[in-house]
Amino acid sequence: MNILGFSLPKLVEIFEQNGFSKLDAKRVFPWLHIKLAKTFDEMSDVPQKVRQELKEKFSISVGQCEILQKSADGTQKALLKLEDGNLIETVFIPEEKRNTICVSSQVGCAMGCKFCHTGTQGFIRNLSAAEIMSQVIFWKRKFPISNIVFMGMGEPLLNYENLSAALELLLAEKVHNFSRTKITVSTCGILEGQLQQLAKFGVKLAVSLHAPNDNIRSQLMPINRKYNIVALLPILKEYKKSSNTEYITFEYLLLKDVNDSAECAEELAKILKNFPAKVNLIPYNDWPDSKFHRSTQEIIDKFFSILFKHKIRVTTRKARGTDILAACGQLKSKSKRNN
Ligand code: SF4
Repeated sequence: MNILGFSLPKLVEIFEQNGFSKLDAKRVFPWLHIKLAKTFDEMSDVPQKVRQELKEKFSISVGQCEILQKSADGTQKALLKLEDGNLIETVFIPEEKRNTICVSSQVGCAMGCKFCHTGTQGFIRNLSAAEIMSQVIFWKRKFPISNIVFMGMGEPLLNYENLSAALELLLAEKVHNFSRTKITVSTCGILEGQLQQLAKFGVKLAVSLHAPNDNIRSQLMPINRKYNIVALLPILKEYKKSSNTEYITFEYLLLKDVNDSAECAEELAKILKNFPAKVNLIPYNDWPDSKFHRSTQEIIDKFFSILFKHKIRVTTRKARGTDILAACGQLKSKSKRNN
């Protein structure tokens, strides 16, 4: 059993169930999350006999790094092999003032967004809290990490239980001590109550909108047929209020001749008028066999200026790691469904 996903009280419980003491758990816990030990042998204040027994019952695996690709811009993408052989991807993005990691929450994804490489892979399984934490610990062993975005493979809110266990460890002052403003959870808009629960963590929320109306959004994102834009907006407003975050980020992938017209920009400005929103425009990153294409720079600039004119907070995301398919929507591991 991989013990990287347990809070201290949970670790105590698991240890006691397996014949170890509370003190053993208290000694082991900081080695896992603060000193980032790779093996039980490193845990010098844990008696050797206990270390030996721990090794027999538990693991502290971050997965096996099968491939580590480095982009010319410094971005790195790791393909991690999990204990059951499934593969996931996680990305490190260095910037001048911060180092961000992009973390996966599922193997594959069931949401089937048409523009997304992961979406073509289908859903395989949820990641455990330990497997989510493994990605963070994998990068923390290499670099100081300041920001985390849950924007890798999968829909985080459909793995809420394990996501929240990981968030507890990441936000705990005496554990990983990330600021809630440095963690962003991305969702395609699952409205079954998980958002209300997530609000208690106060983390930032990014919503994949990608269209100004239901007609276009439903063509791009099947989830929109269940939860459309009209249903989405009031719940997001509520999230903003109860999580005490400054705004909701709307991700908007610009797809040539699909959702990038001036009319789309005007319509988007209209629906987000008076909404505490920031729009993040994302130039599309092609992947093999994708049927969508990147908008021209002129169109991207025009879209931006229309939103700006309407006083919508707007940014354009710089593409990172495109040469190693590490950019947004490009992640796809080689795991395949067994059925
Ligand atoms: S964009 Fe996100 S929610 Fe949609 S298929 Fe890709 S990973 Fe899943």
